[in-house]
Amino acid sequence: MSEKTEQTLPALAPMPGDWRRALAVVAHPDDLEYGCAAAIAHWTDGGREVAYLLATRGEAGIDTLDPVACAPVREAEQRASAAVVGVESVEFLDHRDGVIEYGLGLRRDIAAAIRRHRPELVIGFNHRDTWSPEPGGPWNTPDHVAVGRATLDAVGDAGNRWIFPELTEQGLEPWNGVRWVAVAGSTSPTHAVSAEPGMERGIESLLCHRAYIEALTDREPEEYVREFLTGFAARTGERFGGVPAVSFELYPR
Ligand SMILES: [Zn+2]
Repeated sequence: MSEKTEQTLPALAPMPGDWRRALAVVAHPDDLEYGCAAAIAHWTDGGREVAYLLATRGEAGIDTLDPVACAPVREAEQRASAAVVGVESVEFLDHRDGVIEYGLGLRRDIAAAIRRHRPELVIGFNHRDTWSPEPGGPWNTPDHVAVGRATLDAVGDAGNRWIFPELTEQGLEPWNGVRWVAVAGSTSPTHAVSAEPGMERGIESLLCHRAYIEALTDREPEEYVREFLTGFAARTGERFGGVPAVSFELYPR
């Protein structure tokens, strides 16, 4: 069944490369590292600027650690994992982990960041209900859905002076220069970029989330991370000329 589906899936097109600045927006520490850190390493190597915006500090992500103690641990892990792939700017919106509400407040916060950073490319994370293109796949988390949808919506908000006029009053002029939103971890990818140049740093970047990973699995962390990321890149590469790849669903504007 899945073999037949793979054969019928179209090839992934190369990601656009004619941009200078990207802003990646996700719900939690580790979302970008599971999703696309190898691609980000490759892009920053090429002189591009990438900034991270996280809706939460992932404080509800470790069962054995109280959120108050967990937040600074996960923030530090996120900053370290960003540095590994050449990302210096890491901002946290401090929405509450696990119960992020899709709504005007979230859209406004993301639109404000887009106006501050003025990216041509916005990177988001799976906003769909499940992790599978086929019916009945694993259910996505409400935080990913809320932040993913709000990110797609906030791109338009950032460009319109009249949607959140309070942002303009704060000195954040509209930015209508976003040309694409690229959704990592999508169930329906359309584009890809080679994972090869950035893979080792992508692995190192995810390994920075050590407290999270050690609570998640009994396996040896590096073995688990390497197998997960290289396996996923290889499967993606089946639709990208056999080159291990990171995929995105690209929404042009
Ligand atoms: Zn997440």
